[in-house]
Amino acid sequence: MNKMFQSVFLAGLVCGLAANARAATDADAVACVKAGNFLAPTAAGRLNYAPDREVSVLHFALDVTPDFQRRTVAGSATLKFKPNVKPAQVLKLDAVDLRVESVTASEKIQAYQVTADHLVITFAKPIPADQEASVTISYHAEPDSGLYFRTPEMGYKEGDTHCFSQGEEIEARHWYPCFDSPNEKFTSEMTCRVPAGMTVVSNGRLVAQETNAATGLVAFHWAQEQPHANYLISLVAGYFKKIEGQHNNVPLGFLTPPSEFEQATNSFRETDEIMEFFEQEIGVPYPWAKYDQMCVNDFVAGGMENTSATTLTDNTLFTDDTENLRSSRGLVAHEMAHQSFGDLVTCKDWSHIWLNEGFATYYQVLFEGKKNGHDAMLYALYGNARNVTGVPCDTNAIVRRNFGEPSEMFGYLAYPKGSWVLHMLRAQLGEELYRRCIKTYLERHRYGNVTTEDLRAVIEELSGRSYDQFFDQWLYHAHYPELAVDYSWDELAKLAKISIRQEQTLATMSCCSTCR
Ligand SMILES: [Zn+2]
Repeated sequence: MNKMFQSVFLAGLVCGLAANARAATDADAVACVKAGNFLAPTAAGRLNYAPDREVSVLHFALDVTPDFQRRTVAGSATLKFKPNVKPAQVLKLDAVDLRVESVTASEKIQAYQVTADHLVITFAKPIPADQEASVTISYHAEPDSGLYFRTPEMGYKEGDTHCFSQGEEIEARHWYPCFDSPNEKFTSEMTCRVPAGMTVVSNGRLVAQETNAATGLVAFHWAQEQPHANYLISLVAGYFKKIEGQHNNVPLGFLTPPSEFEQATNSFRETDEIMEFFEQEIGVPYPWAKYDQMCVNDFVAGGMENTSATTLTDNTLFTDDTENLRSSRGLVAHEMAHQSFGDLVTCKDWSHIWLNEGFATYYQVLFEGKKNGHDAMLYALYGNARNVTGVPCDTNAIVRRNFGEPSEMFGYLAYPKGSWVLHMLRAQLGEELYRRCIKTYLERHRYGNVTTEDLRAVIEELSGRSYDQFFDQWLYHAHYPELAVDYSWDELAKLAKISIRQEQTLATMSCCSTCR
């Protein structure tokens, strides 16, 4: 995702039970004044972990009909799954504010329960491990997040009516029931029924488009045939106009609301070149069936890298008159880099989000270098460094578990500092070995989840060097070197004397000279 950076300063001394491997809740939180100090995070906040995977989700199919006047959605969600390791009698899905109308299943259901944030389905008998089963949930939603409408009643232009979804981090549960954590990957389908004249874009490949004679609605049926994470499921539906292009065998699309279509070409035109560069730099072909970029009104971020279907803010569009002042290059490159880093391999949980955002930020910088030369790349990195050093007293590491909401992890540590970690690795390894490491990392974990240690393991394996210290310093500990540089000139010896002192303290709660 491309977001505005936000600083989060936390106070107090409260931590979750570190020995509990489940995601901590507020109820789990305990004040750890003394006894737990050795486990305590450096700032307040519960400790967050990936949830258990008691079942594997094999396939997820969503069939929805948005009501653009009421800003509601009627849906049917079908989830194929199989219990992992142990028999399962209960299936617990994330679901917030959904009006569940029926639940049917391949197995006999004893009862289902709708709580404030879950749908809990209890089967009459345990489903054996590895036995496939399926449930279908019919529901209505009037979502206040997850799915956003843009309609004339809200003040948007008549001919531009549309809606769009936003899954990351945990919004999808507000408009459909799901396993809403990144550590589960599955194939998916999206069927969306809209009035004639509207279009629908989702993940993967368009497999059918049919008009229902009785309702007049047109059903667009999309299939995402390789596994991906729930937060990358996308629906964009409404009135759009489209530019089409092609990169090798990959169809490219760029869609805007009709009233903004004149500006579409300016933002779209580097897409093919960026894809070409990434394929060469990363060494892995673009991994999905097509690549669409959809501009929407008042998007919730700058862009969102849904699998093969990126959503962009329409603020990125610009007129021919401003082409010397404006550019979509950084945003387009960032979201496309995510198609590999984030979508093809996905952080296991939000504590490792730099594996998505640091990579997207760095490959955005690398394309800037390709386009405008080495100095332009260095200048972009300089800007990223300023984002990091502009926060003098931060005690948080890039990889950490002590945060309140997942959104707190999307800041200057994951993005610009993450990009610098990669730049330092590239400098240490050399470009050729760095590229081999990244290619191996992507190919080894393709369609899977990754942690920071997965990256370290590949680098150590291919370089024959230990990266314990580097990862410990830059990923698992906070801050950055503060350097005091003195210079003097010895006229008689004709020698310059330069001394560099590293001055930051290592204590976690007084991280720098400003804190002392
Ligand atoms: Zn991003």
